[in-house]
Amino acid sequence: QCPWGAPNTTSISCSLADVMSEQLAKELQLEEENAAFPEVVAVAEGPFITGENIDTSSDLMLAQMLQMEFDREYDAQLRREEKKINGDSKVSISFENYRKVHPYDSDSSEDEVDWQDTRHDPYRADRPTTTPRKGFVGKGKDITTKHDEVVCGRKNTARMENFAPEFQVGDGIGMDLKLSNQVFNALKQHAYSEERRSARLHEKKEHSTAEKAVDPKTRLLLYKMVNAGMLETITGCISTGKESVVFHAYGGKSATEDKVIPPECAIKVFKTTLNEFKNRDKYIKDDYRFKDRFSKLNPRKIIRMWAEKEMHNLTRMQNAGIPCPQVVILKKHVLVMSFIGQDQVPAPKLKDVTLSSEDMKKAYYQILNMMQQLYKECNLVHADLSEYNMLWHDGKVWLIDVSQSVEPTHPHGLEFLFRDCRNVSQFFQKGGVAEALNERELFNAVSGLNITADNEVDFQAEIEALEKMNEDHVQNHGKKLSTFSSDGDPPIYDE
Ligand code: ADP
Ligand code: MN
Repeated sequence: QCPWGAPNTTSISCSLADVMSEQLAKELQLEEENAAFPEVVAVAEGPFITGENIDTSSDLMLAQMLQMEFDREYDAQLRREEKKINGDSKVSISFENYRKVHPYDSDSSEDEVDWQDTRHDPYRADRPTTTPRKGFVGKGKDITTKHDEVVCGRKNTARMENFAPEFQVGDGIGMDLKLSNQVFNALKQHAYSEERRSARLHEKKEHSTAEKAVDPKTRLLLYKMVNAGMLETITGCISTGKESVVFHAYGGKSATEDKVIPPECAIKVFKTTLNEFKNRDKYIKDDYRFKDRFSKLNPRKIIRMWAEKEMHNLTRMQNAGIPCPQVVILKKHVLVMSFIGQDQVPAPKLKDVTLSSEDMKKAYYQILNMMQQLYKECNLVHADLSEYNMLWHDGKVWLIDVSQSVEPTHPHGLEFLFRDCRNVSQFFQKGGVAEALNERELFNAVSGLNITADNEVDFQAEIEALEKMNEDHVQNHGKKLSTFSSDGDPPIYDE
């Protein structure tokens, strides 16, 4: 076949409507996926430049990394000059808007995200390097100009001073440089597009930070805590979950609070933008059945209630002497507590730590005791107890993550307890603790109930029957039973 011949175009006949609906379907699918796996997206956006995964075979990538490094150095220089100008003066001027990277903080990983954004920048000139090079090669005399008008050239050089300060003109202004109109215009054009790019980056930054970590309102709340001297510094994020982001901070010396602030704190920020919730509202709010109820639901208030619940539950546990974070302060949806760990390193979760068989046994009996204390003294069921929410620190187990904890008389309280027992029992049986009770024995030991069923199905049926009895009691008497009827006190297991 002749290489110059017309290509065989296999045209698929279909109507515009088909294409449109297919596109629509794809869009809908994407939307649905984003809603269903929001955390997956967050993970993908993580530290995608870690120092090890850099693809050095790409010239473009290398060039961009160099540019990034240059921008960072440039900003550092700008900062030094800013400081020199301001000195100790009470009134200071800021060069913030002339920075290339526009950081909120000195966290460099943020810059890398920014850099990625520039790859599809529609404002960027096609070949940005050629224009400025014209201005700098052949310093002074060697520049060829169309009209050779010395005066005009010098004037053009002087006019470069009007460019935004972040625009690099080299030391051309200081020397006897004559710029042709053409070069000057090209430079001017480039200066403007750079300015726009910079502004655009700034906007993007605002957006992406808000999405990735916390929204501006939360950021302000955190800044206020630092400003008030309650926190010394917020060093960074230690965990990003579906419903919360946890930061590490060094405690400050607060003047107002009479409480002593722990040297290291954990800040749990409950997410105010629950994607799932937002997506659901469009189905609910137009449904007449939900109209009244929905109007009363304010997502911000609901999220604050979670934070408040975690605070109250932690306080109850603290009072019972259960090892857990100590509450420092609650501000809206932000809960500050003591940090379990040291020198910014959080204590490992039980699932991540390898314990000696002796420690494993010790941990088991400690947890058994804690579960009993939690139930009896705090009147709580953890409801998300597993090796993921237990930390190993100082030779003992610490309980965390209690925002979802409920009282045993909650309509599903006993089911939650049973699930907790299953997690604990399985973890320690797999971990080789021969003494570990099975899930049903553990449930009875913690609750003091005496459910005799010897298989899981019957056991669960009895649990649900008990829950129903309690609900009926609520219906008939308007209040809950203070406790479930039990055959005496639960046996206390000692180490
Ligand atoms: P989530 O609902 O996201 O699971 P958690 O309260 O379990 O929230 O916190 C998430 C992670 O943050 C924990 O697994 C733990 O590693 C860390 N973390 C939370 N609170 C503390 C704390 N007080 N001290 C140290 N690390 C903590
Ligand atoms: Mn957790």
